[in-house]
Amino acid sequence: MARTAIKPAVPDEVIRVLSVLPSASMVVAPDATVLRASARALALGLVNRNAVTIPDIAHLIERVVEDGHAREQEMRVRRPPLGRELLELRVRVAPLGTGAILVLIDDLAEERRVDVVRRDFVANVSHELKTPVGALSLLAEAVLAASDDPDQVRHFAERMQSEAGRLSHLIQDVIDLSRLQGDDPLTHAEVVDVDDLIARALEEVRTLAARHEIELVTGEASGAAVYGDHGQLLTALRNLLSNAIAYSANHTRVAVGARSTGTIVEVSVKDQGIGIPVNDLDRIFERFYRVDQARSRITGGTGLGLAIVKHVCQNHGGECTVWSEPGVGSTFTLRLPAYYATTPFDRDSTELAVNLLSIPGEARA
Ligand code: ADP
Repeated sequence: MARTAIKPAVPDEVIRVLSVLPSASMVVAPDATVLRASARALALGLVNRNAVTIPDIAHLIERVVEDGHAREQEMRVRRPPLGRELLELRVRVAPLGTGAILVLIDDLAEERRVDVVRRDFVANVSHELKTPVGALSLLAEAVLAASDDPDQVRHFAERMQSEAGRLSHLIQDVIDLSRLQGDDPLTHAEVVDVDDLIARALEEVRTLAARHEIELVTGEASGAAVYGDHGQLLTALRNLLSNAIAYSANHTRVAVGARSTGTIVEVSVKDQGIGIPVNDLDRIFERFYRVDQARSRITGGTGLGLAIVKHVCQNHGGECTVWSEPGVGSTFTLRLPAYYATTPFDRDSTELAVNLLSIPGEARA
């Protein structure tokens, strides 16, 4: 909370420069009140309620305010608000001359993380692509061998069609996942209305649900918002909903609801489906892990849906939790840092910098 009445001005040139820098950045007053922050700083959870959430960064700012000398420090800190992920940050703090202080933050571990993930992903993907391609080639041989028998030809052609569908689904998921792992999704961050997100995701799975005669149920409007990439969040929710439908018997219900617990927004997808054995629960978020290979083949699953969900949550500083009981059903919950604003964002002055003075909420390091 602000302790000084007069806030130092943040020159427009500074905002313009910050908006093109890849680093997360903030401009703070001498009492460490955040005056402006880049989308990336917000998305990494470094700022909440116009306060710096990481004590080590706040301390560094204090020292710079004391003697007016610029400083640089590397630090390993837990990513707020959940603290599940470790961030390796290089923080540079310098006085701006207008009374305000500039803070630039780079995530040093990010590149290394992306590299490791990418390497074993390529190996897994090549393996997975071989299955439908191999099947297509065998089916093509079968068609040739049965060219005199129209019924057989039709049968094999239909199977070819379904394998081709599987292949294209797999390729789409691979593209989605490599996008998530590749470029920096938080550069597209914006305020996302959670109720609207749910409505859109439901719209996208309505036909699938109707085909399985599954009733889609929604809870009351939550009024909650999160700060993130709309497209990614939609993909994550759609994946949870399509799984809930795919792994449930006909004539059951799938319910989706959201609530805000202050710092965290929870979006839950609950089904009355086949459930997941306890021994598999830890592994279902791994790429290409399926509880039941045969069933996954029938549903056309790629084994990537939940890996995508996990990545989206991680990118947003959140997590996905699961409760499940075989024969009873499953509940998947997206837990994301909440965003509250009493007034809408002013995105006019610059694309990336946002004025934080109107954001209440809780700070947590
Ligand atoms: P798939 O494309 O095979 O569905 P996912 O990554 O989406 O891959 O899910 C991994 C595995 O987790 C699935 O193969 C399935 O066994 C299990 N699973 C996911 N969601 C559910 C659910 N709602 N109910 C039961 N099992 C599920």
